[in-house]
Amino acid sequence: MPDFGRFFLPGPTEVHPEVLQAMAQPVIGHRGSEMSRILEACDPVLRAIFRTSRPVYVSSSSATGLMEGSVRNGVRRRALSLVNGAFSTRYRDLVSECGREVETYEVAPGRFHDPRQVFERLRRGGFDAVTVVHSETATGVLNPLAEIADAVRRAEGETGDEILVLADGVTSVAGALVEAEGWGLDFLLTGSQKAMALPPGLAFGTPSARMMERARTLTGRGQYFDLLEFEKYWQKHQTPTTPAVSLIYALAEQCRRIGVGGVAARAERHWAMARRCWAWVEERGPRWGLSLFAPEGYRSPTVTCMRVDGRVAAAEIVEGMKARGWTIGGGYGPLKESTIRIGHMGEHTVDELDALLAVMEEVLG
Ligand SMILES: *Cc1c(COP(=O)(O)O)cnc(C)c1O
Repeated sequence: MPDFGRFFLPGPTEVHPEVLQAMAQPVIGHRGSEMSRILEACDPVLRAIFRTSRPVYVSSSSATGLMEGSVRNGVRRRALSLVNGAFSTRYRDLVSECGREVETYEVAPGRFHDPRQVFERLRRGGFDAVTVVHSETATGVLNPLAEIADAVRRAEGETGDEILVLADGVTSVAGALVEAEGWGLDFLLTGSQKAMALPPGLAFGTPSARMMERARTLTGRGQYFDLLEFEKYWQKHQTPTTPAVSLIYALAEQCRRIGVGGVAARAERHWAMARRCWAWVEERGPRWGLSLFAPEGYRSPTVTCMRVDGRVAAAEIVEGMKARGWTIGGGYGPLKESTIRIGHMGEHTVDELDALLAVMEEVLG
């Protein structure tokens, strides 16, 4: 049995042994030239991953930290929050928990958001930000983010409101080409433990110039996620507070590895795994009552969510895989009993996925 390539959770994901080993280096001071040199070397790769010429900040927090940061630095008074699952619900809740007003545009789990609806809601006026999750990890739905950002721009033209697009790309960035600059995203963030295939504990985010302008005018940005502080230290290739130094070593090694393969090839590998997984569910799944949860054209390249009709219980499949030494994800939150999920992201390959699917067939019987 292979000792790598059997862990298919939709986060955290499997970390390559070379990346794990990098963390065993001695801890160094975070104000020294050595740390700046390491972060400077990561910089061009992070920009390539985020498809931007803007800074990409490194935060020693999980992704939720930067979700909160994006609200504190980006929402002035009132946001429209797009909700279609557990993580987009979290984003919406963060807006009100940070003391802002929020209107929810909710669709059922498994559905995506209609850009025309986004436009219709925003054109009524009074909004200054939109929160959206690109790849809803709970359901495997990929939102049409470029079109949604376009709709926001059109609403800005119509209303004269400045409306920032705050995007959670936690399971899309590094698994797909998510165009922070090209799509006009005002903040795009991810966490280390999803398609970046790093251990949990870091988050990355890139702001547009107007996001930084907005932040300058807002009070109550707090301290830990104050983007102005991130910007000040980023200029020196440092972080505002003590970073998780060992994880920075892992990041440096992973940036080196991603730099060698290139982000376009990485994205293509993810789409190839996704297509393979969808085809398997469509061809083989029906005999066990498995079907794809997300509609065609709106499926995430990194996570496939399958509806389980009860012929074989979700927990039985997950446990059966575990007994054979393989890990897949159960359903998330309210979808726990009715779905299972395969995370095909990070360092996995189509061959490893094929091996996983063969074991799945054994378990399903
Ligand atoms: C995992 C995940 C998060 C939360 O990330 P943490 O690192 O646990 O804070 C947010 N959004 C999406 C889409 C996720 O998949």
